[in-house]
Order: sequence, then structure tokens, then C-alpha cells
Amino acid sequence: MSDLLVMKFGGTSMGSAARIRVAAEISAEQHAKRPVVTVVSAMSKVTDLLLDSLRKAEAGDQADLDENLKQLFARHFDVCRELLPAARQEAALAGVHALISEFSRIAKGMMMLGERPPRSIDEAIAIGERLSAFLLAEYLESEGILAAAVNAADVIATDAVFGNATPLMEQTRQRASKTIRRLLDEKILPVVTGFNGSTLDGRPTTLGRGGSDFSASILAAALDASELWIWTDVDGIMTGDPRLISDARVLDMVTYNEAAELAYNGAKVLHPRTLAPLVEREIPVWSKNSFALDKPGTKIVPSAAMASAARGPHAVTSMADVALVSIEPANSVLSGTKVMARALEALDRANVEILAITSSSYRQTFCFLVRQSELGSVMDHLEESLSLELAHGYLKPFDVDKDVGLIAVVGEGMRGTPGLAGRIFTAISKRNVNIIAIAQGSSELTIAIVVRREGLESAVKAIHQECGLGR
Ligand code: ADP
Ligand code: ASP
Ligand code: MG
Repeated sequence: MSDLLVMKFGGTSMGSAARIRVAAEISAEQHAKRPVVTVVSAMSKVTDLLLDSLRKAEAGDQADLDENLKQLFARHFDVCRELLPAARQEAALAGVHALISEFSRIAKGMMMLGERPPRSIDEAIAIGERLSAFLLAEYLESEGILAAAVNAADVIATDAVFGNATPLMEQTRQRASKTIRRLLDEKILPVVTGFNGSTLDGRPTTLGRGGSDFSASILAAALDASELWIWTDVDGIMTGDPRLISDARVLDMVTYNEAAELAYNGAKVLHPRTLAPLVEREIPVWSKNSFALDKPGTKIVPSAAMASAARGPHAVTSMADVALVSIEPANSVLSGTKVMARALEALDRANVEILAITSSSYRQTFCFLVRQSELGSVMDHLEESLSLELAHGYLKPFDVDKDVGLIAVVGEGMRGTPGLAGRIFTAISKRNVNIIAIAQGSSELTIAIVVRREGLESAVKAIHQECGLGR
């Protein structure tokens, strides 16, 4: 569809009756001009509350679960009352009640079982998005705009990796043409849940925390949208995390690659996988602030559209919850290459992302950085793969260092900027922060630096300043 616009509203942009009203106004304004699909996150903090409730259910903690459910009802009932005209409230409250009851049924099942099956977690936590989609669609209807809440489980087809599913694009296209396109043909505005999907045999899945951005880009690609607008609570993609860097500046334009590198290396403003579905069709993305509609936002474009004058470092990002795993042969009997190959296979089987990797050829040691949340699975798979070598003493025990952080300096064509790496390292060492590992790799885009955790913030600020990224 040539002029289709997909828009996504994040948790804070859906966080109250007042914010839902703004999201509805933005959606309605565009819907009057062109076909629009709106994708929504759960109201802010709701996914955390749902996950916490399931943990309490598993632990058999009835009183705490009830307290959480009470909060969940109160939050959505209050929004219903504030948002909707009296005549619509009874039906809307019943709708909210039905969805929360569905959640509570799953939670109670977990309480009886004393466990939380991943598949049931996904089914349960998608209810946050189903609630917010329902409320936005109800409000649009009350304003005389034809709208329909759509559960993305009926649209986005995924593999069966619960909690971190990957879309199956061809099947999603087919599903979307039956569900979403039919609504668009009837001039109905679809309000689709972010974050969730389902397997080909209909089991509910989710796309990972923060996954509503990814949902929106999957739908934009599947529906051949002409643009994707991601509405959030900052003015766009910035040169650094504004919570950390007081003079961080909004970037007018970044490339898909830069945005993906930033997201992948910890910039929360985009889900790491958001850009992937858009690359093939080169669908442009805007990151915009739903709290400041006059601000232009950041445009994310294919690399070719970026002027060469704009090459060099553009932003710096960091990640704290990471761990550095080092593997070192105990003697030269063992081929370092073979160990590395086995270790990488193990990481592949563990389905984890390697955030950075470096090796030193003489001692055949190598180390790689992973998220702490994935460390348990990493170690299980490594130990299984290399158990014989460990048992016979060919390998030293694995070294795991959690007291580290990752910094990524990102910019197209940085490799062509002479002396940059040196300036960055000098800036870090002037703040007395130890550099543990460096990985510039083959990408011209990113210099990844692992430092001691305690120096992470200070190093990020130093780099931001040294590269002249601030206002
Ligand atoms: P949403 O709920 O809209 O998806 P998120 O909280 O997931 O919003 O992401 C937006 C937040 O990302 C911002 O409030 C900001 O604090 C944080 N952030 C981290 N790094 C960056 C960056 N480089 N540019 C902009 N925002 C960033
Ligand atoms: N609600 C989900 C989360 O909090 C998805 C999202 O907000 O993008 O992770
Ligand atoms: Mg987000």
C-alpha cells in the first residue's frame, strides 16, 4: 500500500488517559489523510507488573498476587472512567474486566502448578498490550472514528522461541492481508497490540522486552508501508542516553546501520531488531516525541541517503548488565582455533548474542561479552561442549567477569577518521578508567570498548565530550 503509515506509541505515550487522548489525536489526524495502522505498547510499567504477578503466582504468594491484580484493575478502570463518555463506560469496563480475568486465570494456573511455562508467560503478558489497544480503539470510536483493536497474535507469525520470538515474514504478510488489510479497505483504523505474535499452530509468543518497536517494523514491512513513525518520550535518537549525559543532542538523521548499532549496544530508544525488517524495502523511520509534537524528531534512512559530510562519530551508548567470559588453553596441545569454533557453536546453540569478541593469537586466549541475563545459558552450553577439555586440564577454568560494562561509539565511516581511536582511548584513560578489551572489528560503524563497571558512566561522558557530540 503506497502511502500507508504505521505508527507506534510506547508505554509512556500510552501511560494515562491524557496520553491515550494524544495518541488518538495523532492517529486520527493522519488517518484523515492516508491509511494508518497504529501499534501500541502496554501502559508504562504494566508489563513489569504482569511479570511480577506471574512470579508471585509461581511462588504461591496469593496475597501479593491479589494486590497486583487490584493495581492492574485500578489503573485501567481509572483510565476508562477518565477517557470515555459515560454511555460507553459500562461496556468498556466489562471489556477491561474480561481481559484482566483472562490474565488472572493464567496466573492462577501457574499458582496451582508452581511453575511458569514460557508459553503461558507470553500469553499472559501480552494482555498489557491488549488492554491498551482496547482502550485506544474504544476512545477513537467514541470520537466517531472507525477503529478496531487487533490482537497481533492473529497477525504476526513467529517461531516458537517464547519470550524472544522471531517473525516469519511471509506468513505474517499472508495473515496481515487477511486481517489488517481488510480493515484498511473498509477505512477502519486498526489498533494493533505491540510485543506479541503467535506460532504457525497458534501458540502465543512475545518478541522480547521493548518489542513493540519491532512489532511496528514487522507490520510496516509486511504491509509495504511508506513510513514508520515511532512515538516515544524523547525528541528522537540522541548522541547519548539523556538520563546519563546532560548535554546529549538530538540527531536530525541517522542511518539504519547506526540506529541498529546504537540499539544493539544498549540505546533503549529502539528495540535492537527494529530496523532489520525495513532494510529490504528501505522504509524510512521517524523517531518522534509524543510529548513535544512540534519537534521534528530523528529520521532513520538507508546509508546511501546519508551525506558523506556527516561521517564520523555520531553517538555513544553503553550497557551495564554484561559479562566478559574468557577462555584460555592450559597448554599448546590444544588448537586455539578449534576451541574457539567449539565455543562459538555452543553460543549458537544457546541462542545468545555476542556483544563483542576479541582474541590474542599468541596465547590462543579469547574473550567475549554477553548479556548477564544470558550468562547462565552461556555457561551451561560452554561447559557441555568443552567438558572433556576441561576435565583433562587442557583448558583453564572459564573466567567470568561481571564487573564490566560495554561502550559503543557509533558513526558511519568512522574508520576513515584518522586518530579517532587514539583520542577516545586517551579520553578514557584521563579519567583513570581501565580498558579491558577493544573490538573495532570489520565494521566501520562501531568501536566497542569494555571497561571496568565502576568507570562506565565516566568513560561514556568523556567520549561524548571528546568527540564533540554535545550541544
Ligand atoms: P517507549 O516506551 O516509548 O518504547 P523507551 O523507554 O523504551 O520508550 O525508550 C525511550 C527512552 O530511551 C528515553 O526515555 C531515553 O531515556 C532512553 N534512551 C537511551 N539512549 C537513548 C538515546 N541515545 N537517544 C534517545 N533516547 C535514549
Ligand atoms: N510492553 C512491552 C515491554 O514493556 C513491550 C514494549 O513496551 O515495547 O517490554
Ligand atoms: Mg521501548
